[in-house]
Amino acid sequence: MLFFYFAPSFDLLGTGRRFPNYEKYIENGIYNPNLFDEDIICFLNKCKAYKFKTCVLLNGLLLGMPYNNNDLKSKIPKIQQFLERLDEMCVTDYVCIANPYLLELLNWNRIKNIKIKASVNFQIKSERTIRLLNNLINYWFPSGKLAEVELQKDLLRDIKSIEKIRKSLENPVNLSIIINEGCLNGCPYQIMHQLHSSTMSIDDVKNHQEFKFGVARCKNITATEPWLILDSNWILPRHMERYTGLIDSFKLTDRADSTDTILNKVKAYALKDYDRENINTLISLMQMESWKFPEIVLPPDFDDIIFSGRDVPEEYYASIWNKIKKYNAGRYPNERVAIQIDRLSKDSLFRYEAID
Ligand SMILES: [Zn+2]
Repeated sequence: MLFFYFAPSFDLLGTGRRFPNYEKYIENGIYNPNLFDEDIICFLNKCKAYKFKTCVLLNGLLLGMPYNNNDLKSKIPKIQQFLERLDEMCVTDYVCIANPYLLELLNWNRIKNIKIKASVNFQIKSERTIRLLNNLINYWFPSGKLAEVELQKDLLRDIKSIEKIRKSLENPVNLSIIINEGCLNGCPYQIMHQLHSSTMSIDDVKNHQEFKFGVARCKNITATEPWLILDSNWILPRHMERYTGLIDSFKLTDRADSTDTILNKVKAYALKDYDRENINTLISLMQMESWKFPEIVLPPDFDDIIFSGRDVPEEYYASIWNKIKKYNAGRYPNERVAIQIDRLSKDSLFRYEAID
């Protein structure tokens, strides 16, 4: 079963998505969200024709500008109308939310069929948070409205914690987890990755601006300690069987990719068909690297070590990184094997300094 996630028009809620084909929806010089909605409905109908499930993303962390009530007065009815329309057409299974205020701001009595998915932005790492969330959701709805929970990304290789969560779940809730992002476990940017990517302004979209704050800034860390990429939140397609009975759906990132790249990743994880000379192509934060990361450099005990739940000494990952360097030096002598941060250069750090 395939799940398709889709974002509504960017003027409905900051969704952390660039909008590369913005011009397509310009009419008489003005952005027309209705044109965009027509495309969404067409896409959803196609998904349903193939019997795919669909999930609308309303998981921006902020509902417009946080101190502006007028903004909410115009925004909330628009979100309400949009969800009601999708609900009536029976083309949407889940709505993914990250902001619990949406539970009370929307009139869910008029959105009967769409179930709720708790976004990764809820940072759910324990059964306790799911229990509290269920308590909250059951306050507003009949039970069973919370249908799926996206687990916090650091849990990916922590099978013991996932087992504990699975065992203690009282209500039937599906568990989902992202498997190919590549952000560092314990990344200090984690909240900010989400926060800044969900607050892109309409002007930024119109002018094709980069995000105000580079979302992949954690590459500044891996630029100096590159072996940490081996201890981050990605797994290989062969690892998926370790989650049997624990995880109900695996989520692939990256929202900004081309259709071809996304299809290649689906093929990799669903059919185990991928380029084994370069695992970088699977991992969102590594796919722009030009050196190769061949699967063969991973030692035979790699799978058992990373899923052991033990603290793995950094030397273990450093020795694999050395193997990657040796492999590339032998085959691609002109390739510089390092984490590339060209697009995140230090030059851009002081761009908000006052200009006299
Ligand atoms: Zn990060």
